[in-house]
Amino acid sequence: MSNQDNVVIIGSGAAAVSAAKALRAGDAALQIDIYSDEQVAPYFRPSLTLALTSNPPEPRPMNKPEFYVNANIGLHLGMLAVKIDREAQLVVFSDDSKVAYGRLLIAVGAHCYIPQIPGIGLPEAMSLRNHKDLRRLQGFLEIPRNILVIGAGMLGLELAAKLLELNHRVTMVECAPGLLHKQLSATGGDFYEELIKDVVNMKIVTGSAVKEICGSDHVEGVNLADGRHFECDLVIISTGVISNADLAKQCGLESRHGIVVDHLLRTVDPAIFAAGDCAEVECRNFGLWEPALAQGKAAAGTILGESDGFQCKSYGAFLNAFGTKVYSIGQVDGDDYSEVRDDEKKDFRKIFFGGGNVIGGFMIGDTSKMLQLSHAVNEQYNKTQAAEAGLL
Ligand SMILES: Cc1cc2nc3c(=O)[nH]c(=O)nc-3n(C[C@H](O)[C@H](O)[C@H](O)COP(=O)(O)OP(=O)(O)OC[C@H]3O[C@@H](n4cnc5c(N)ncnc54)[C@H](O)[C@@H]3O)c2cc1C
Repeated sequence: MSNQDNVVIIGSGAAAVSAAKALRAGDAALQIDIYSDEQVAPYFRPSLTLALTSNPPEPRPMNKPEFYVNANIGLHLGMLAVKIDREAQLVVFSDDSKVAYGRLLIAVGAHCYIPQIPGIGLPEAMSLRNHKDLRRLQGFLEIPRNILVIGAGMLGLELAAKLLELNHRVTMVECAPGLLHKQLSATGGDFYEELIKDVVNMKIVTGSAVKEICGSDHVEGVNLADGRHFECDLVIISTGVISNADLAKQCGLESRHGIVVDHLLRTVDPAIFAAGDCAEVECRNFGLWEPALAQGKAAAGTILGESDGFQCKSYGAFLNAFGTKVYSIGQVDGDDYSEVRDDEKKDFRKIFFGGGNVIGGFMIGDTSKMLQLSHAVNEQYNKTQAAEAGLL
């Protein structure tokens, strides 16, 4: 048990580690403990996919192993929090152990959305969210596979590219009418699809959903809603994520698209804060690494009594796969836009305006101006400023 000034952090992802670092920087004496259900020290989650082809085949650690000891941050792995007792200010773990908190930061992230279709429980149907999933996937990939990826969003596409590098065959099934329409609008999505449609050993199917996974003991194929059948021996689901909200709900904290917090990352309980993928900050849940880091830091600031809070802004999404880069940020639809398109060079850039100001845009191919675009969106550049920034 501990004193009432300690901070307990549940989770060991971007938000948790960034909070712990900021807490330590602000208070050398504070007792800080991270509790995570994962068995490995915090790592850069986006590098899970890259680990499939990297050497060593591991995600990139967030810190050197000695960091936690040197910073006097308790790192407790293999600890699944199952209950928060708000009255007694205790976290209860699956092994029945309990830890008292003065302040509690919930930074438990998200889990993959798994469509409940027949066959989803077969052993070769899986998703990739954590180190355990990575190990399982690496095990499957020891022999050549015929893989079907459900969901061709940014993460699904990045994964498909890595699987191809490892000489597996890949079919991507996307229920939306085209690729990346949310990030690139229909015109950009179609341009991108044209660029990658002839990639060897990959098939892209859009506009149809997987209805069921076939096979009695093992995955043998999938049936689509439009009647088509594809053979495969491994299914990877990449259909988005859902905030981990069970802990918060269990203890009576409100959760919508995440645990509801204000811009200071405060829940309605003055001792409890939430940050990262598990949090809905001023009505927004980002599901991205950078805002998770920023929210963790802001939550630490609030706990230390010195925070300006988390400033909601637009964050971009970047994809580097199949030899083509893609960047997208903000709103990518509307009638007021400027575009530069070069089919020969395989470059396409489109900037969208609302009320005369930049509200979003995307770049395919040449993404060298992505920082300028990010500034333009967040600083609401007018057209003259956007032109001066080389965006038009
Ligand atoms: C394959 C992959 C690629 C990605 N690529 C990108 C990218 O290119 N760019 C980008 O911006 N974002 C990317 N993301 C998303 C990004 O990784 C997340 O937005 C970010 O990790 C969120 O950080 P977090 O700290 O909120 O949560 P997480 O990183 O999910 O960490 C939460 C931690 O809490 C633990 N936990 C959960 N429940 C409990 C419990 N009850 N008790 C104890 N511990 C618990 C989890 O095991 C986990 O370790 C990617 C994600 C994945 C999976």
